[in-house]
Amino acid sequence: MPNTNNEKKRVAVLGSTGSIGTQTLEVISKHPDQFEVEVLTANNQIGKLVQQCRTFLPNTVVIGNKDKYHQLQEALKDLPIKVYAGDQAIAQVVEMGTVDIVLTAMVGFAGLLPTINAIKAGKVIALANKETLVVAGDIITELAAKNRIPILPVDSEHSAIFQCLAGEFHNPIEKIYLTASGGPFRGKNTAFLSNVTPEQALNHPNWEMGNKITIDSASMMNKGLEVIEARWLFGLKPEQIDVIVHPQSIVHSIVQFTDGSMKAQMGLPDMRLPIQYALTYPDRFTSDFPRFNFMDYPNLSFEKPDRQTFRNLSIAYDAMHTGGNMPCIMNAANEVAVEGFLHNSIGFLQMSDIIEKTMAKVSFVQKPSIDDYFKTDTEARRIAQGLIGM
Ligand code: MG
Repeated sequence: MPNTNNEKKRVAVLGSTGSIGTQTLEVISKHPDQFEVEVLTANNQIGKLVQQCRTFLPNTVVIGNKDKYHQLQEALKDLPIKVYAGDQAIAQVVEMGTVDIVLTAMVGFAGLLPTINAIKAGKVIALANKETLVVAGDIITELAAKNRIPILPVDSEHSAIFQCLAGEFHNPIEKIYLTASGGPFRGKNTAFLSNVTPEQALNHPNWEMGNKITIDSASMMNKGLEVIEARWLFGLKPEQIDVIVHPQSIVHSIVQFTDGSMKAQMGLPDMRLPIQYALTYPDRFTSDFPRFNFMDYPNLSFEKPDRQTFRNLSIAYDAMHTGGNMPCIMNAANEVAVEGFLHNSIGFLQMSDIIEKTMAKVSFVQKPSIDDYFKTDTEARRIAQGLIGM
């Protein structure tokens, strides 16, 4: 349904050169009468960022890496685009009066401060940065409720749940099932996993994604992070969230209501759909994305996740049960461990060892403040790096 008040939604895309950022701009480009790109931010990929600026002519652009500021400024000097650099600028630019909706597609803990600032400034959040809710879901959801800010999920599983809940928000949820593809190593044992390379882990069967989330998918940490993300997004108890492996990635997740009825959301694995739904919510816009054909998928299958081999899923449940700053510790250790694995400093299975050891070492805080979360993140990274020898 077209926007009836004739006003375009002005979007800030944080992490615009990554996989989600790029697909967000693709969605926006198909609805130029509905959306306007107001802000673009990226960390490093200056060539791609310049190209995006030339296509979408944002009001403001920020490059995270300050060393690239002059290069960016030089490349855009013929255009009326404001150019800034650094993490502080990324955290501030979301507060601009001309921004309506902030899509957070940057990777990791870096998403926390910009998201907090955007909520405080009254912006609608399209949340693609799951780590923000994993780290500080208590503070974020409380802040969003206080400021009456909707947090619209972009993650495909959470978008699925959110879509199933349309018209049902007053009905209690009995439980949800988050589906998991199982990644490239589904069915493998620890002997196999002890020798896998980053290249093998980066080869996901169903989804095209950035490096960090692809490794998380191979290790099942992505599903662990998503379980915690779902807890906060939908106000659930840990025992109400289950994970089911579904190798075809067609059923994106399932809600079970208290009468026993289950609703699932289905479609081809295509991130542009959840991105578009978050941007157009509560409406659905027509799209030309490829349609699902049952004859291409005569067998949709489901199986139990292997929590012994893929320990990260159990680790994430433990962190969620413990609460406090434990998910923040786990997230920081995981970010460091993924870096370590990508740089061949540690093996695939050692990632879980590093995370568990870090969780045992960092000081536990039961009711953390924002400041505590920042301190926890720093301490956990230091300890995890020490364990790896980075
Ligand atoms: Mg997901």
